[in-house]
Amino acid sequence: MKHKGGCHCGKVRYEVEINLDKALSCNCSVCEKRGSLLGFAPEINFTLVSGEKDLQDYQFNKKVIHHLFCKNCGILPFGKAIGPDGTKMVAINLRTIDGVDLKKLAIQEHDGRKI
Ligand SMILES: [Zn+2]
Repeated sequence: MKHKGGCHCGKVRYEVEINLDKALSCNCSVCEKRGSLLGFAPEINFTLVSGEKDLQDYQFNKKVIHHLFCKNCGILPFGKAIGPDGTKMVAINLRTIDGVDLKKLAIQEHDGRKI
């Protein structure tokens, strides 16, 4: 299903085709602080509607993931990386989807700290 979402101030807006049945709660160093609940989709299913110039890229460690957040309000709506099979992927912070019902997401714990 297609969903719309964005950052807090509204400069960054996106649309994505994604299933909202489950969410990944990761305990890696950045996710733990940020509190993201992540869902994944191929980048081909993702459209950045606005805010390209408002996005700041944050990278750390192996620098393979682009953690993209809004320079104005600080919210991170999504990140980008290449999947294990070479597919360009987006990791959506499901908390930034318009009207998302977080209670309906099946949360899967992900031990990102070990990776
Ligand atoms: Zn913003």
